Amino acid sequence: MARQTPAIVVLGSGSLETARRLQQCYPDAMIHGLTGRVEGADRLYDEFGTTLRQLYRNDTPIIALCAAGIVIRTLASELLEKGAEPPVLAVAEDGSAVVPLLGGLGGVNLMAREIAATLGVAPAITTSGELRFGTCLLNPPDGYALADLEQGKRFVSDLLAGESVRIEGAAPWLDSANLPHDHQARLSIHVGSSERAPSPHELLIYPRNVLVAVGADLNNAVTAVRQALQDRKLALPALACLVAARSAMAHPALAQAAAELGVPLRFVDGPGDAGELAVRALPDSLPVVANTDLALVVASQPIDARTIGQRRGRLAVIGLGPGAADLMVPAVKTELAQADDVLGYETYVRMAGPFRPDQVLHCTDNREEMQRARHAFELASQGRSVVVVSSGDPGVFAMAAAVLEALHESHESDWHNVDVQILPGVSASLATAAQAGAPLGHDFCVLSLSDNLKPWAIIEKRLELACQADLALAFYNPISRSRPWQLGRALEIVAAHRDGMTPVVLGRDIGRPGQTLRTTTLERLTPDQVDMRTMVLVGSSTTCVFPRADGGSWTYTPRWYGQRPDS
Ligand code: SAH
Repeated sequence: MARQTPAIVVLGSGSLETARRLQQCYPDAMIHGLTGRVEGADRLYDEFGTTLRQLYRNDTPIIALCAAGIVIRTLASELLEKGAEPPVLAVAEDGSAVVPLLGGLGGVNLMAREIAATLGVAPAITTSGELRFGTCLLNPPDGYALADLEQGKRFVSDLLAGESVRIEGAAPWLDSANLPHDHQARLSIHVGSSERAPSPHELLIYPRNVLVAVGADLNNAVTAVRQALQDRKLALPALACLVAARSAMAHPALAQAAAELGVPLRFVDGPGDAGELAVRALPDSLPVVANTDLALVVASQPIDARTIGQRRGRLAVIGLGPGAADLMVPAVKTELAQADDVLGYETYVRMAGPFRPDQVLHCTDNREEMQRARHAFELASQGRSVVVVSSGDPGVFAMAAAVLEALHESHESDWHNVDVQILPGVSASLATAAQAGAPLGHDFCVLSLSDNLKPWAIIEKRLELACQADLALAFYNPISRSRPWQLGRALEIVAAHRDGMTPVVLGRDIGRPGQTLRTTTLERLTPDQVDMRTMVLVGSSTTCVFPRADGGSWTYTPRWYGQRPDS
């Protein structure tokens, strides 16, 4: 696995210059600055402890520009819980010291050396093996996997106790290490893809140089792959990737098999039997097993799965929520972090950022929805990870339906093979309701007052019926410059059914800078109090308002209707 991009965390403006120098070392790393104290950071946070712990839990490498003690105390509660640690380093504000703290097996010492070289200082490396041999033997580079960590630790301590070592197999990354070589040594570092019985005198490292292609019988893929490896006495960690035909891309058993085997899944043009697929994946290879269902190749070098065929593309339609970052669901944050391409209306794309330089932004006008949806499929069908951004919830008057409509209309099998995901968000009506209290606490009706895509007559009819049914109402798209009169007409219909004192909540830019929330009544409401960034919630006959201790008011619609139940 390639290492994740680190986060550079700063507490004060004094460390910003050092942070920028670190970005020379990690150009994709973002500087996280404390709100109000750091100007010019790439991303702001409010609470140091929560932020640091969250990054740590997400396995993000952390470079904190502050005292080592602060970092240790902040992460202390997390340390016993976690198996694999991301690298965590403390760097002195002025760049005069680099202290690797955690993540010895995640490459923290390597990072400390990189950072120290950039800052022109010596890294404070304290790991004995690392100091003696100049590398962490237990952290082989991409393309290799350590067989057993605990056994590896014992091996390194034997080595540190003064024993010498011999190397079996190809381990080019150890050429520059400072190891006590002796071809008669008792201890050996063995690099090979065969399954071997564990030995206390051996550090066993598997090159990931095995590729398996699966053809017809996909439902039994996992068992077949395991069996083929076993028959050839190959170790599972040596498996670099699973390959299948493009025509089988959406087969659910495949994704499940790859996840179970813990390997990436790649696709090459098919159909064809497994042997043909394997040769198409690695053109100069000679499969050691090749039949219709399964083919197995052992390459002379580790295989980088990213260079084989293409992966299954992904298109996620995400909801940002109303605007505030803490109202965005975690799955959406993860999706944004994985995205290669981000599409959407410019305002929303900007709200979803900041982005890394390698992420491609495609900002378009708000009205070009179908075009945007098709563009998203074009990108995703090339194997890219694409995010289409909506505000609020993507399924509420937003991009999810447009994306599905584009797919429904399309005969491109490549589009239908894309892994489409819809990730929900907090819709404006719910965000506004929560701030006002619980005006939607009983049955309610959601309407868009925009007649761009539907005739005005149907809006009037639905509104009329919703009023007759005494539902609370939530109006999206209440008014705009091109639709100036519709809200006034809608309010006339409501007024014909409801008391003038019916509570109305107006939420504008909820969850965004400068948000306002107003509670008024139906008779006092005029269209000029409303714009296209406003959510209008109209109460039913049971909606009530009462004062809050802080001077504001609570609006709610009781859960019951008719007679109040005994409580
Ligand atoms: N998918 C969005 C709605 C898109 S329609 C959602 O689920 O929230 C756009 C309309 O939503 C706007 O005209 C406005 O009425 C409402 N809206 C969106 N964001 C809002 C916000 N932050 N505050 C108030 N209203 C908002």
